Amino acid sequence: MNSVFVYCELTEERHIADVSLELCTKGRKLAADLGVSLEAIVIGDIDESIVNEVSPYGVQILHLFSHPKLFPYRTLPTAELITYVFEREKPQIALFGATPVDRDLAPRIASKLKCGLTADCTALEIGDHTDNKTGKTYKNLLYQIRPAFGGNIIATIINLETKPQMATVREGVMKKEALPQPYPTEIKRYEVEPLLSDDLFAVEILERYIDPPKVNIKNAQVIVAGGYGVGSKENFKLLFELAEVLGGEVGATRAAVDAGFVEKERQIGQTGVTVRPKLYIACGISGAVQHRAGMSESGTIVSINTDPDAPINQIADYVIIGDVMDVIPKMIKYYRQNSK
Ligand code: FAD
Repeated sequence: MNSVFVYCELTEERHIADVSLELCTKGRKLAADLGVSLEAIVIGDIDESIVNEVSPYGVQILHLFSHPKLFPYRTLPTAELITYVFEREKPQIALFGATPVDRDLAPRIASKLKCGLTADCTALEIGDHTDNKTGKTYKNLLYQIRPAFGGNIIATIINLETKPQMATVREGVMKKEALPQPYPTEIKRYEVEPLLSDDLFAVEILERYIDPPKVNIKNAQVIVAGGYGVGSKENFKLLFELAEVLGGEVGATRAAVDAGFVEKERQIGQTGVTVRPKLYIACGISGAVQHRAGMSESGTIVSINTDPDAPINQIADYVIIGDVMDVIPKMIKYYRQNSK
């Protein structure tokens, strides 16, 4: 059976979104495991040079829909074109980012094709499954793995019969890895006009306002993250000072965000951002599974906590037992002294 497909979302600047390239990297591995091709769909007002952005990730065929009417994004025409490709190509796996756009698209396509969709997967693997009742064995299914029941269990979800097996994955969860040499991607260009009827453009975009992101913790190499143990918004200023000294960014737990210590954009974890910095300093963070889901792949983890038994200490490379309000000023002082 057929290929692994990745829907490649375009950014405002008309580049392929990072999450899509992360999914191409994962899709490449899944396709290799299955012995099938990795294919991508790009839809927008773009030219063929966009292929240069996907070929380093091993995309073998790029399905390209280019037309002025396809920018900015609208749900109905985009869903129509993706469904059109899936009905013809019959992929066995289709991956989407768990972004606002893809979360709008993927359920609509799954519903049209009457197949399953698992949102916010944290791992994707290929494996077999034997049905206990029938004894039938299903080969090479997509294991769609994600936390469930408030993070208390890790569920593996499978679609036995329906294809494509569809999943969304949040940005940063998969690693983006280019090949040493770009793949010679074949471009399949489509005639767009005949595929788009007027009723697909029932929504008219009159005005657009883009709110630029205020914080960019996803790409920070050093993150000073604070939890509820930091105690207050005022105390968080020390974390900002340490982050500035180290050339990093400030992150937070959901408990710290809920308490109003910092803005939601800084939340790391299952319902926040996934990060992989070189250095992660966890200040007053207990290390709940939902928080660890977003930071456990950091290079070096330092934990500052008054509780020697805090779960975060089990995954930390260095543990400092102490009050964040005592430890952080010392870190700032000595780092400044030693880096002069
Ligand atoms: P606490 O668990 O209260 O820990 C505070 C820590 O600070 C303790 O270890 C304590 O010993 C230490 N401490 C206290 N005072 C000091 C001091 N003066 N100096 C040093 N240490 C001190 N959480 C996330 O972070 N991100 C998510 O995306 C997320 N998503 C969730 C999704 C779901 C569906 C659910 C159910 C929960 C989610 N949570 C998430 C919440 C998560 O379960 C925890 O409640 C949260 O991570 C705890 O945050 P915390 O470590 O800051 O607070």
